[in-house]
Amino acid sequence: MVASAMNRSWTIATIRGIPIRVHISLLVLLPLAAITFSNQFRFYYSSLGLGPGESVLPPLVWGIILAFGLLLGILLHELAHCMVAISNGVRVESITLMMLGGISRIEGEIARPLREVMMAAAGPLTSLAIGAVFYVAAKALPGLPAENKAAGILFAIVNVVLGIFNLLPAFPMDGGRILRAALTPAMGRLAATRRAALVGKILAVPLALLGIFFNPLLVLIAVFIVLGASAETSMLENRVLLAGRRVGAFADPRIGNVTPETPVWHVAERFLEDNLVAVRVGDGVNGPGAGYITLGDLERVGKKGARLTAGDIARRDLPRVWASHDAAAVLQAAQARGRDAVLVFEDNGEPVGIVTGADLGRAAAIASLLQDLAAPENRT
Ligand SMILES: [Zn+2]
Repeated sequence: MVASAMNRSWTIATIRGIPIRVHISLLVLLPLAAITFSNQFRFYYSSLGLGPGESVLPPLVWGIILAFGLLLGILLHELAHCMVAISNGVRVESITLMMLGGISRIEGEIARPLREVMMAAAGPLTSLAIGAVFYVAAKALPGLPAENKAAGILFAIVNVVLGIFNLLPAFPMDGGRILRAALTPAMGRLAATRRAALVGKILAVPLALLGIFFNPLLVLIAVFIVLGASAETSMLENRVLLAGRRVGAFADPRIGNVTPETPVWHVAERFLEDNLVAVRVGDGVNGPGAGYITLGDLERVGKKGARLTAGDIARRDLPRVWASHDAAAVLQAAQARGRDAVLVFEDNGEPVGIVTGADLGRAAAIASLLQDLAAPENRT
């Protein structure tokens, strides 16, 4: 429940085909940021020799404007990453704005280290450039009212901090991605990722300590680094372990058939009694166009499903792949899209079964075990 609430985000706009989402955490963090900024604004304003109550807009209004300015700064930072990704032929699934920064879901990876450096550096460089422009403008524009000057300088500082902070070599932050790309030619991608992740985890320790004494936000960022470094390393490990294997080999064929009128509770009963992983909802549409219900769909519907039928909740948008596709590529695409299941078809259009992230994780674990057992140095 908590986990599903933490995954909640809303799409507010689409820029060049990329959905821009805002994360639920902003509901708490945006007001906090507004209060922090209004205090800082008051401080800067008085440092310019002006008293409270002399600004046209009250400090709290400037705080709110600056909090949204921070969001805009994060959006421009992420867009810069995405534009480089797109120009390298990599699809961008979405951008999610959070108060700790943004997350761009990028489908696929840039294989060439130099291109990866450009993609990772584009965000921080954009932030630094925005900061520089606003700083110079706030200082140099003649006749600019003092409060606009104070707000402009604060906005510049926010962007510079965003840029410098992301350049910390703490994988999976941008600086850590640059470090990984720099290590890749000499060590190979997996070893470079492991090394960069280790550096990130080591850097997270002083960051968390600083956070405890100065700013709790730093503790959150340290946690994000440690969790992100572990998750990205294991994702890459799984892909390396599965590379060259057919995804069809891991497809689970336990798919049942139900009619659209079947009540959802009865669908759940079929899952249990026949030990199924999915059902096909037969409504006259056959082949790749048919609707399916996976165990994940059933869990998502939950109690609301009591009054619904299979036809109400069947999905036709389950990703579809051929059995001969590379398992590592399928896993990567599913992860990038945040999808939990993929339908696998034989070349003749017959469904082979369904593959979930858990199935591929299990297969990778076995492949890893096999690698250890078969390694010449471990054999006697
Ligand atoms: Zn970035």
